[in-house]
Amino acid sequence: MDLKKYLGVALLLGGLLPLQAQHRNEIKVPDLDGYVTLKCDLHTHTVFSDGLVWPTVRIDEAYREGLDAISLTEHIEYRPHKKDIVADHNRSHEIVEKQAKNLDIILIKGSEITRPMAPGHFNAIFLQDSNPLDTEKYQDAFEAAKKQNAFIFWNHPGWDAQQPDTTLWWPEHTELYNKGCMNGIEVANGGSYFPEAVDWAIEKNLAILGTSDIHQPTTVSYDFAKGEHRTMSFVFAKERTAEGIREALDNGRTAAWYKDKVIGKEELLRPFFEKCIEVKEVKRDDTGVTLSITNVTDLPLSLTKTAHDTSLVYFRHYTLRPHTRHNIRIKFTNGIKGGDMNFRVDNFIVRTGKSMDYTIKL
Ligand SMILES: [Zn+2]
Ligand SMILES: [Zn+2]
Repeated sequence: MDLKKYLGVALLLGGLLPLQAQHRNEIKVPDLDGYVTLKCDLHTHTVFSDGLVWPTVRIDEAYREGLDAISLTEHIEYRPHKKDIVADHNRSHEIVEKQAKNLDIILIKGSEITRPMAPGHFNAIFLQDSNPLDTEKYQDAFEAAKKQNAFIFWNHPGWDAQQPDTTLWWPEHTELYNKGCMNGIEVANGGSYFPEAVDWAIEKNLAILGTSDIHQPTTVSYDFAKGEHRTMSFVFAKERTAEGIREALDNGRTAAWYKDKVIGKEELLRPFFEKCIEVKEVKRDDTGVTLSITNVTDLPLSLTKTAHDTSLVYFRHYTLRPHTRHNIRIKFTNGIKGGDMNFRVDNFIVRTGKSMDYTIKL
């Protein structure tokens, strides 16, 4: 081919390549003092197990949706596309390593150990090699993961296909827990929430996780135009690196973000909430005080009055939508000049069936 023709073909092909500019929606939630809040989805699938997208799509979605980290956790034992996708258990991760690096997405190698109940499904992440997890007995798969110093968590503990009536903790789970083979638990997975798992996590000191477990393109499951987001974890890390995520997981500094709920340990959610709002006193006289409360985050904050001095008169219920400022009047009656404004943050879940209480002193 002469040079002119060659250049013509090269230009033509170049013109057909997709544009590289990509748009990222940052998730606006606060950092805790000394930590950075990383948005992580540690449970996803591609065509390399039973997912419906090529691995690169997951990285593009992660970038677009403002994630810091992702894991492609293909099922070890369930690969319905294996006639078409002939590869070992590491392949989907390998395919996207370079792309993730280019887009500054932290890619964590993981696999889903996929067994009947009990013990059910578990993700092992921070693996070096997924292939040794392909074993006959589930105990050997956990051993192989543990040998690689994996972080292991129980997926969708209340999945009705495996726990038809109640979300139960089986003897097999005690055994795995005692062996150090259960380090975290999903309290939310995609569109499902497992309230029982919140108390288990707190009592057994497991990292509280939310994941998408997405199989389709995320746009099929979430309406981003309506402000929906995939289920994910907030990881309060010392630094924005894989090592930073691992250290935070090992120390249980996580919360799950599921629909409008933030689910986590109270000792983390309390300082987190304090950074979600800015409270200023704008006016005070004998009849009361006016506060300006600004929600500086992407999270709606739903407040409900709890037991209080009835001489202090304020809202029964109040919703602070994302990025809005509110002037709230609190009236003094019976001669009082201040007091405790007590309320519950309904959508901050700190125990099974319990939201976080909060007080603003006036
Ligand atoms: Zn699963
Ligand atoms: Zn899964």
